[in-house]
Amino acid sequence: MGNDTRLIAAIEAREDDLVALTQDLIRIPTLNPPGRNYLEICEMLAARLAGSGFAVEMIRAHGAPADSDLYPRWNLVARREGGRPGDCVHFNSHHDVVEAGHGWSVDPFGGALRDGRVYGRGACDMKGGLAASIIAAEAFLEVCPEFAGAIEISATADEESGGYGGVAWLAERGYFDPARVQHVIIPEPLNKDRICLGHRGVWWAEIETQGRIAHGSMPFLGDCAVRHMGAVLAEMEATLFPLLAGKRTTMPVVPEGAKQSTLNINAIHGGEPVQDADYTGLPAPCVPDRCRITIDRRFLIEEDITEVKAEITAMMERVRARRPGFAYEVRDLFEVQPVMTERDAPIVKTVAAAIERVLHRQADFVVSPGTYDQKHIDRIGRLKNCIAYGPGILDLAHQPDEWVGVRDMVDSAKVMALTLAELLVPDRVS
Ligand SMILES: [Zn+2]
Repeated sequence: MGNDTRLIAAIEAREDDLVALTQDLIRIPTLNPPGRNYLEICEMLAARLAGSGFAVEMIRAHGAPADSDLYPRWNLVARREGGRPGDCVHFNSHHDVVEAGHGWSVDPFGGALRDGRVYGRGACDMKGGLAASIIAAEAFLEVCPEFAGAIEISATADEESGGYGGVAWLAERGYFDPARVQHVIIPEPLNKDRICLGHRGVWWAEIETQGRIAHGSMPFLGDCAVRHMGAVLAEMEATLFPLLAGKRTTMPVVPEGAKQSTLNINAIHGGEPVQDADYTGLPAPCVPDRCRITIDRRFLIEEDITEVKAEITAMMERVRARRPGFAYEVRDLFEVQPVMTERDAPIVKTVAAAIERVLHRQADFVVSPGTYDQKHIDRIGRLKNCIAYGPGILDLAHQPDEWVGVRDMVDSAKVMALTLAELLVPDRVS
């Protein structure tokens, strides 16, 4: 029996273990924000992986954004060395989950198993993927104990809030240095037959229009910042949205609607602040002197971020030319460059071949509309041989009744195990 057949059998034999591990992970509510139970989940994983022969390291991102003694940002990095020198394959999963929200028909932290699905917050995004990578590594170690190189598994904090207390923090300390790690798989829920090569870029900014406060009964004595913002929004509709719709990318972004530049207005606020729910009075009559919007611009690998910003300035200047007294400010909040791993990178080719062997169909190559931790591995770690590959349906992420399919987890664990065999057992018989 060849190694591939034995690996596949070893994964099949671990199906119950895979389900139980996923349930155990879901039952630790690692809510972010604020960042609950990070120590608990890292300790649970550390015990599990130490039991499988990994050297485990618990790393707190002291001083990272949101790190505090009440909500410490704990990360786990586990490494198992092979008997000979060789490449290191690293599986990186984030252990944090977003709030449950309303509309659940099951306990979001119960880990219910029903009709071949495990339910719970984080089931697909991405505790199911984390569990699949652990099972894949354990099966591989049993079948191929004489491997070369090393396997690493990390569980990292705060992906849902930017990853600064997680992958970014580790990358800044050399954990994703290409001298230490050569291949990275991030088991985000992109579906078991798809390889995600990267993501579009992001620019968040706040645009403020400025006016002058006055009594609401004599608006002519003031200058209404909300009316100025109205003019900005009208200009956006007339010129900016059509411009963005015309910018198409060669990146294989899914879903289809994201194959172009997009802009969302995440928030708008002008005038008197919203009062607390227990305030029973009326609002006061004032001309608003400030109005702000937060824009969320997603850009393409073909675009340059300086051009993306210049488009907004040009739009604001067009409005200014038509409106006497128009004053504004644009403030940068956050930016991420687009990332796309080459189609012929070793990790891409190896995982694609494993998908074909396990699922008997060709892999699809996709790019994510939004960003994930690959940005830090690429920019800070300077490691380009990185993809996202994992079980689960992306659309279910952050939704009520989130679930991950048991068959999908088993299949992607097989793909991960065959990938390990291909990269770490160079002389194997498949
Ligand atoms: Zn995720």
